[in-house]
Amino acid sequence: MAAMRPRKFPILFLLWASWPVVAAESIGAAGNGCLEGGEALAPEGAGYQVLRLERQRFYGHPALLRVVRALGEETASRGWGVLAVGDLSLARGGPMPYGHGSHQNGLDVDIRFDLAPLAPALREDPPETEVVAPGGAGVDSARWSPARADLLEAAARFPDVERLFVHPAIKRELCRTVEGERGWLRKVRPWWGHTAHFHLRLACPADSPACVSQAPLPPGEGCGTELDWWFGPEAAQVPRPAAKPDLPARCAKLLAE
Ligand SMILES: [Zn+2]
Repeated sequence: MAAMRPRKFPILFLLWASWPVVAAESIGAAGNGCLEGGEALAPEGAGYQVLRLERQRFYGHPALLRVVRALGEETASRGWGVLAVGDLSLARGGPMPYGHGSHQNGLDVDIRFDLAPLAPALREDPPETEVVAPGGAGVDSARWSPARADLLEAAARFPDVERLFVHPAIKRELCRTVEGERGWLRKVRPWWGHTAHFHLRLACPADSPACVSQAPLPPGEGCGTELDWWFGPEAAQVPRPAAKPDLPARCAKLLAE
């Protein structure tokens, strides 16, 4: 008996030592890509907690995990509450069976505006708090607060963050109220939905040459006529998703493994 015991350790060690360590790489576009060597975000940390763990959508490029953790630390240190972190990507990224067209290359994460800590029992099916008033013309003044604008500003100021998607009413509220240095407003982009959470997207990391960037941000704060369009009749028609191009060949291979 005693002689057999030590065998366990060397076998486990050999398995571990021979496991290929793949450097993280975002491949393809947010809406048509995948993630190699993605890392899992810990279920909770300073100032954040991850929702719906059973979905296994807590993987991302390490640069994304760094931003979430740093934003969590800032949320805690400034006394805003706790970040409720929704979906990142699946372990290898790629299309999700439901819920998102993007979130495919490990650079996207959804974060709720509601910063009240959630009891563990609620984290798998958390109730949503909309911060936009019914009808979508403005924010709900009972649920919006300057701290939410501060959170968006803190998120936008990370150099790696390329875009934050919010409901147009939220962008309009920021355009109306933000004082001082407003350059960060450029990163805050109006989009359909996003009444209870914002969607944070990183720029393609330098270590991911096969990552496909979105078109560069247009110049300016995005507060003028470009924003007005969102409150007109054309924006009321949510476009139907276009036919998906084929996944990049590397992704098709990675996701088939
Ligand atoms: Zn999202």
